[in-house]
Amino acid sequence: MKDAISSELFAAALKKIPGGVNSPVRAFRGVGGEPFFTKRAKGSKLVTVDDEELIDYVGTWGPAILGHAPKEVVDAVRDTAENGLSFGTPNPLEIEMAETICRMVPSVEKVRMVNSGTEAVMSCVRLARGFTGRDLLLKFTGCYHGHVDSLLVKAGSGALTLGQPDSAGVPSALAALTRTIPFNRPEALREVFAAEGDRLAAVILEPVPANAGLYLPREGFLEELRRLCSESGALLIFDEVMTGFRLAPGGAQERYEICPDLTAMGKVIGGGLPVGAFGGRADIMDYLAPLGPVYQAGTLSGNPLALAAGLAQLRAMERCGGWKKLEETGAKMEEAMRGIVAGRDLEFHRIGSMFCLYFAKGPIENLEDAKRSDTGAFAKFFHRCLRAGVYFAPSQFEAGFLSVAHSDEDIEKTARVVADSLG
Ligand SMILES: *Cc1c(COP(=O)(O)O)cnc(C)c1O
Repeated sequence: MKDAISSELFAAALKKIPGGVNSPVRAFRGVGGEPFFTKRAKGSKLVTVDDEELIDYVGTWGPAILGHAPKEVVDAVRDTAENGLSFGTPNPLEIEMAETICRMVPSVEKVRMVNSGTEAVMSCVRLARGFTGRDLLLKFTGCYHGHVDSLLVKAGSGALTLGQPDSAGVPSALAALTRTIPFNRPEALREVFAAEGDRLAAVILEPVPANAGLYLPREGFLEELRRLCSESGALLIFDEVMTGFRLAPGGAQERYEICPDLTAMGKVIGGGLPVGAFGGRADIMDYLAPLGPVYQAGTLSGNPLALAAGLAQLRAMERCGGWKKLEETGAKMEEAMRGIVAGRDLEFHRIGSMFCLYFAKGPIENLEDAKRSDTGAFAKFFHRCLRAGVYFAPSQFEAGFLSVAHSDEDIEKTARVVADSLG
């Protein structure tokens, strides 16, 4: 398939891979048309097999915080590989990574490495249930936590109705243990806690939800949640797979100064390799095997290549003042976009290096609001931008990501393309 163009590759992929992709959103179903194939990525750009160069705001869905293929990370992977790819014994990088995470993420006293964000979340849920001896979970509509059975549950009709599985293959008996309410609705929260607070093992959320576009927690919402959890004995799980190491070195919990009991991590800490982690209070983490009764394991967990990549990326971020840079680039992007969206039925959200342009009028503060978006108009906009060399995520309901590699020139070109594409 060397030198094949994207359409030929996609035709071949469709024959042997369900839907032609290894993760559904890549298939462009949200915008129509066919995905392009990438042959190379460097800095803020992707180069497709069709030799188009694109300014990339997907950043491999979050991990590429320094931009693509930064020299420090590529060198670390190459050097580490010389000494072996996987040992299946403890290796020194595991301690370095654990110490780095505990130093950076305020609430984490002990941590375990896994291989994906999904695995991190799944492990948090099992640990929370094992620790509390309770079964019920509370989640929020529009929050995505990987393809974990108990969490592939979206909206029931009311706050206290039983959950319906969102995916075939999730037993309804399992979905029935998940309660689902809208984000940013403190009254719904209080209602669930009043009715079932003493049966909740955990509340899980993205502290800044970024899987239905991007909206921010209302002032006081996270504080209220923390208070209700502490009162009822339910554990508070922050899913910081996307926000961790991105919104601040210590993620959203540092930015909002809320201390969860457990945190799921992924994406940025892998530096582009498959990594997740979960950690939190030492007394809870010590419930894990071999110390405690909650089983969790992984053949490739703590893999030296993956940890070398993640550590190199975090070190490079610290050395170059990465988070400050991202804040500045984010502010520039926001200024440009505010000018463009003014007076239109559009809503632009940004926090740090994450953003979303909704094709709907604000305010948007949960899934129910986000669903008002004109997805047809978004799809047209997406394809126009792509043709002009700017790649946003192929769905209205995904966040955009800036990296340290995005230049002023990139932002200026993007602003021109966005203005043109809106017509
Ligand atoms: C991406 C994501 C996950 C899942 O991580 P994978 O590595 O894709 O399994 C979980 N939670 C959030 C908030 C995510 O954005």
